[in-house]
Amino acid sequence: MFDLLKSELTRRTILHKAGFGLIALSTFGAVGTIFKPTRTLAQAGPAPAKEPLPPEKKLGWAVVGLGKFATQQIIPSFGECKRSKLVALVSGDRTKAERYAQQYGVNPKNIYNYQNYDSIRDNPEVDVIYVILPNGLHAEYSIRGAQAGKHIMCEKPMANTVEECQAMINAAKKSDRKLMIAYRCQYEPYNLTAIQIAQSGKLGKLKAIASDHGRNLDLKDPADRWRANKKLAGGGSLYDIGIYSLQAARYITGEEPQEISAMMYSTPGDPRFREVEENVNFVLRFPSGVLSNCTSSYGYSDTKRIQVFGSDATLELDPATDYYQHRLTIKRKNGNEEQNIEEKNQFALEIDHLSESIMQNKQPKTPGEEGLQDVRLMQLIYEAARTGKTIKV
Ligand code: NAD
Repeated sequence: MFDLLKSELTRRTILHKAGFGLIALSTFGAVGTIFKPTRTLAQAGPAPAKEPLPPEKKLGWAVVGLGKFATQQIIPSFGECKRSKLVALVSGDRTKAERYAQQYGVNPKNIYNYQNYDSIRDNPEVDVIYVILPNGLHAEYSIRGAQAGKHIMCEKPMANTVEECQAMINAAKKSDRKLMIAYRCQYEPYNLTAIQIAQSGKLGKLKAIASDHGRNLDLKDPADRWRANKKLAGGGSLYDIGIYSLQAARYITGEEPQEISAMMYSTPGDPRFREVEENVNFVLRFPSGVLSNCTSSYGYSDTKRIQVFGSDATLELDPATDYYQHRLTIKRKNGNEEQNIEEKNQFALEIDHLSESIMQNKQPKTPGEEGLQDVRLMQLIYEAARTGKTIKV
């Protein structure tokens, strides 16, 4: 995938800076502004290492769930990791697991199923477990993984409920293990640059953010079937894709919303929306006065866009939260300026971020608390839509 990407990028100007830690500096140089993060969550990269990392050391990772995202994006990305290697697979389908084990050089003795999963505690090759199951199973498999003494990476959304999120945080703390939520966009160079630009003052005073994330839910796709099931999905489009709109508003401002209003609508009679919602539009008011208009849909064609409106200029990131081929433009009265940034494998960056955080014993940039905050806010968005009231957070 990234080879294709690289050829696509030849038509763009690429900044030749290596290493994740330098992304901030390179883009910073490119836009010529001073970046002062207003909170740790939205910082442009991991904090400088206190201790040098042991040379060549890679942590061993187990992937739980061999579905679409795991097999098409995450497992292939281990090949681009510097600090992480795939050493184990957990799947209900032994034949499938053996196929992937052979393809990616995983020892077949390190294949687990959901019944003997807990015995992974006896496998010293596995340091970290990456949970890539339907949302409703995240809490159970993260907690069992932490209890088996392993560090945990869990896919978004963290879990169905705030209580489950808290139980995951507690389990990781009790086992003295790290817990990170896989918010890939907070490791992705275009999004990091958008954060820097928005917070640097380059757009003038920030006034509003519009963030739109939607796609058509397709029940013919097995990966979409569980998404129409409330118990397995936790919610509808908001939990799956609207969470990117919510995240964008939070990481672009570097603030937490103080007020939320929302409206929801699902097409009557559409079998996809018997249990989960189709559309949610919500407005967030941040302490600085920024108002964010966010949309989330399972009914419109693929959209992954962030716009930031400042008093002097507008920033547009479109696609904003795709896997690759992002586009970032600053729009002013006297013309548009496209930002050219080196694309990187955001999955490898986030995976290595957790490995480095473990090796250096520091909190990952997107810990369990970050996932819990989104679940809490999404529940408030539903409440605002249900009651028709503006909710104070
Ligand atoms: P998927 O359906 O393709 O994969 C889910 C896997 O879980 C399948 O292999 C399935 O067999 C297995 N599974 C185990 N128990 C199951 C059960 N009881 N019911 C259904 N499936 C069960 O889905 P996916 O699109 O790969 O999504 C998996 C997770 O990854 C979700 O949490 C999703 O939100 C997340 N995801 C994240 C991104 C991202 O960009 N970060 C993208 C896609 C998916």
